[in-house]
Amino acid sequence: MINDNDAMKHLLDLLSVEGPSGKESQVAETITRKLLAAGCRKAWIKQDDAHRQLGPGYETGNLIVQLPGTVKHAPRILFSAHMDTVPLCKGAEPVVKDKRVVARGHTGLGGDDRSGCAAMVVMGETLLRHRIPHPPITLLFPIAEENGLHGSRMVRLEDLGNPAMGFNLDGQFPNELVIGAMSAVRWEAEIRGRSVHAGLEPEKGISAGLAGAKAMADVAAQGYFGRIVKGDRRGTANLGHIEGGEASNQVMDRALFTGECRSHSPAFLKRIVKVYRASFEKAARETRNDAGESASVRFTTIGDYHAFRLKKTEPCVRIAGEAVRAAGMEPHPLVMDAGLDANNFNQKGLPTVTLGTGSHKFHQVEEYVEISEYLAACGVLVEIARRCAAPGC
Ligand SMILES: [Zn+2]
Repeated sequence: MINDNDAMKHLLDLLSVEGPSGKESQVAETITRKLLAAGCRKAWIKQDDAHRQLGPGYETGNLIVQLPGTVKHAPRILFSAHMDTVPLCKGAEPVVKDKRVVARGHTGLGGDDRSGCAAMVVMGETLLRHRIPHPPITLLFPIAEENGLHGSRMVRLEDLGNPAMGFNLDGQFPNELVIGAMSAVRWEAEIRGRSVHAGLEPEKGISAGLAGAKAMADVAAQGYFGRIVKGDRRGTANLGHIEGGEASNQVMDRALFTGECRSHSPAFLKRIVKVYRASFEKAARETRNDAGESASVRFTTIGDYHAFRLKKTEPCVRIAGEAVRAAGMEPHPLVMDAGLDANNFNQKGLPTVTLGTGSHKFHQVEEYVEISEYLAACGVLVEIARRCAAPGC
């Protein structure tokens, strides 16, 4: 059913369009043009206001395409693939080399996630061209995934036509079914001290830098830095950025430490964050000048996304597995150590499994798309749509 030449053209075209997070309008235009040419009506295509909610730096909203169903009583299903790529992919020029698509120069390729976008275009085109029975389908192309899953977080399920289940395309092998992913939290510790001349009267100063350094040494000594293993509980934590201070002869009166923590267990994630907060507060209290005054800290967190775990009996997992098997592959369910747009969909109450579309080595100059896997994934998507049209699916 899949026309390999057309599928490759869609992939190469979409890989050629620049679209870092927040600057996806050319990608949205390219996808829209392709879907109109495939037979979608203009009235089926819209964009939401995610960019306006996110503020400056975001030029376009999530692209939403709603295909009417061709069968009665089948619930609506969602397919999703994010439009943005990481900054490393700027100026990417895709070329076919042996059985792969790679970037010609020293850039990432952007198969993450343009291979997913292209596979959705191929699926839509194939369903319409061959009049394959299908339920009502929403094709969602979110913005701003790479910089924090922002587009999918802003999505309203009503704008998607309230689908019953979701299939997110943002992975590697076409037989991989991501049924779980982790929670992440970003933290920020803003430490205030007291500035004095560092040579004349240092004992009167309170060093915010020293307090932050003590806090970090303390979390590390407790085993809460980098990979964290406490019994059967697992997580990670990182210090990503430090700023503060103005001059070497001045005691540092302000320092900002920022980082992140992750875990598959929301309860353990809370525990990790608690350790960080306590360490910064203790370090601030214990960093004093000769008058006994201490540093202070304002420790804040932003919950980035929430862990989820789908049962293997969940309809989207079962149907994706059946479609993978029908394509001659063995389904491989797995849990990911990162966040996906699917975290947001699942949190909103839309059960969503994630499948791969042949992209590998994400966020590296070695990134490539394995052509046979990409084409197989296109077939799997058509099969999912077809199966969801069957009575009692
Ligand atoms: Zn991705």
